[in-house]
Amino acid sequence: MINVFGSSNSKEVQAMHIHAINLPRFVIVGDNVLPKIDELLSRLLVREDVLLVRGDGFTKSPASLVKDYVSEMGLPVHEVCVSAPTVDVVSAVECAIKETRSCMVISVGGGKIIDVAKIASHRQGIPFISIPTSAAHDGIASPIASIKDGKTSTSVMAQPPVALLADIQLISGSPRRFIISGCGDIIAKFTAVRDWRLAHRLRGEYYGEYAASLALMSAQLLKRNVDLIARGLEVGVRTIIEALISCGYAMCIAGSSRPCSGSEHLFSHALEKVSKNGSLHGEKCGVGTIMMMYMHGGDWQAIRTVLSKIGAPTTAKQLGVSDEELLEALTIAHTMRPDRYTILGESGISRKAAEDLARITGVID
Ligand SMILES: [Zn+2]
Repeated sequence: MINVFGSSNSKEVQAMHIHAINLPRFVIVGDNVLPKIDELLSRLLVREDVLLVRGDGFTKSPASLVKDYVSEMGLPVHEVCVSAPTVDVVSAVECAIKETRSCMVISVGGGKIIDVAKIASHRQGIPFISIPTSAAHDGIASPIASIKDGKTSTSVMAQPPVALLADIQLISGSPRRFIISGCGDIIAKFTAVRDWRLAHRLRGEYYGEYAASLALMSAQLLKRNVDLIARGLEVGVRTIIEALISCGYAMCIAGSSRPCSGSEHLFSHALEKVSKNGSLHGEKCGVGTIMMMYMHGGDWQAIRTVLSKIGAPTTAKQLGVSDEELLEALTIAHTMRPDRYTILGESGISRKAAEDLARITGVID
C-alpha cells in the first residue's frame, strides 16, 4: 500500500494517482484574535489536556495569554519551552505529549517553534494549532517542517496545522527583518513554479495547475502591493500573512513543497551550508530568486526592484556573505536535493557561469 501521508518526495511523485489533500480546517486572521482560541478548541471538540509549545523571549507573553484563555475553559494546559528545531528537541516534545496525555498541541512562536510542534504532534498522531508570532517564512500553514540533524537541516513531510490563529498586531510587532524575510520566501514562488513546470515537461513529474496558480498568486499579490508593504503598514503585514498562508495551502494541495521551493531554495540551502552568516531563510531565497529568474530568462530586474523597495537584501554584501561563499553556493546548489529537478539541471552550473550570473544580476560587484 502506498502511504500518501508523510511519504518521501520520490514516493509522492509515484503516489500522485492517490492524491490525498490534508488542509487546515479553521483560519482566523485579524487584530486581537488570541482570545478566539477558546472558540477554536470548542469547534474542534477538544475536551482533554493540551500541550502549549512556546519559545523564549518575544513569544513568552502571547503564550501566557493563550495559556490563560485555555485554562479559563477548564482544560488542563501543560507547557514546554523549546529553542532550536533539532531532533532532540522534537523527541523531548514527543515525550511531553505522551507524559501529559495531551490530545492537542498549540504552538505559539516563530517558524522554528511551529516546526517542532508540527513534527512532534504528527509523530504522536495528534493535531496542532499554529499561532505564529512572526511571518518570516511559509511554514506557518504548510505540512512541511525543517529539522536540524547535526549540522544540516532537512525538510520533512509532517502535517499542516488543524487551525491557525494569525494576530496581525502581534506579528506587526515582531522585528521588521522577519517580515522582510517572509516577503523573500513569497517572491521565491515565481521561480519555484517555473522549476516545477520544467520538471514536469522534462521529467514527467506530477504538476498541479491549481497548487501552482495558488503559489503564483501569492507572489503576484506581494508584487502588486509592494508600496503598501514598503510603508510598513499593518494592511501590508496582513497581505504578507495571507500570502504565506496561501503558500501553505498550495503545498497541502500539491502534497509536497514543489509549488513553493525550487532552485532559489536550493541556493538558499547551499548558502546556509557554506556560510553561517546568520541571514534569514527568506532573505537568501529572495537573492536566489533574482539569479534563478535570470537563469529562466525571466524579468529578474522586476524581482530585484520589489526586494529593494521592501528593504530586502539583493546582494551578497547585504546578505553578509563573501563573493567567494556566494559563488560556491551557486555551484553546489544542485546537489542540495538531487530529487528536485530545477533550472540548475543535474550537473549544476560552472564556476565561470556562476560568476557571470552573479555579476550580471548585480549580486556581486
Ligand atoms: Zn521557503
